[in-house]
Amino acid sequence: MTADRIITVALHQSLVGGRVDVQDVFQGQVPDGNFMLGRFDYNAIMSLSDTTMERSPWYNQGLRFECTQCGNCCTGPPGYVWFDDGEATAIAEHLGISVSNFRRRYAKRSGGRWTLNEIRNDRDEYDCVFLRRDEQGKSLCSIYSLRPRQCRSWPFWPHNLRSKRAWQIAAKTCPGMNQSGPGCMVPVEQIRIIAADNPDGL
Ligand code: SF4
Ligand code: SF4
Repeated sequence: MTADRIITVALHQSLVGGRVDVQDVFQGQVPDGNFMLGRFDYNAIMSLSDTTMERSPWYNQGLRFECTQCGNCCTGPPGYVWFDDGEATAIAEHLGISVSNFRRRYAKRSGGRWTLNEIRNDRDEYDCVFLRRDEQGKSLCSIYSLRPRQCRSWPFWPHNLRSKRAWQIAAKTCPGMNQSGPGCMVPVEQIRIIAADNPDGL
C-alpha cells in the first residue's frame, strides 16, 4: 500500500461512517512505498491532526451529535473495522471465548492487520458481524461497550474535523451528526479527547 492509495482511503472514509470503505482502496497511482494495506499516510494524517488540534478550531463552540442508530456506519459496501490486540482481548473476554477463537470466528487478516468480518445481508450490503437490528429497525452493536476505537471515535475523526465542509459531507451519511435535540452538543474539550484517542481515524 502506498501513500497515494492510503490518502485516497482516508479521504473516502467520511462518506461511509465508522468503517473504512474499501471501494476506493485500489484507486490512484501507485508509486513504490512500504505502507501496509489500510494504513494511512503518516504525514497526511499528522497534517489533519494538526488542524484538528488547533487552538481555536472551527468547531470551538462544540458540535452536535447523537447517534440515531440508523446503522449506516456498520454496513454498506465491503469495509474494514480495524482492531488491535487489546481490543481483541477485551471482546474475546466479553464473548467468553479465547482470543484465537475470537479471531477465527469473527475476524480476518488484511494487509497484516485484523479487521472484523462482515456478513452480506439481503440488501446486498455488508453488515459488520456484530451488527444487530431490532424489530423497530434500530441498529444495535452487540459489543457496544467494547466496540473498537475506530467505531467509538466516529464521527470525530480528524478528517471530518478538518473543516466545516468535511463535517457536513460526513453528515450526509450519518444522520446523528448535526442533531438539534437537547443534550446533543458535544463540547470542544470532549471532541479533542475523542479525536486524540484515534488520531488517524482508524
Ligand atoms: S447515526 Fe451515525 S453513528 Fe449512529 S448508526 Fe447512524 S451513521 Fe452510525
Ligand atoms: S463493532 Fe459495532 S459499532 Fe463497530 S462496525 Fe461493528 S456493529 Fe458497528
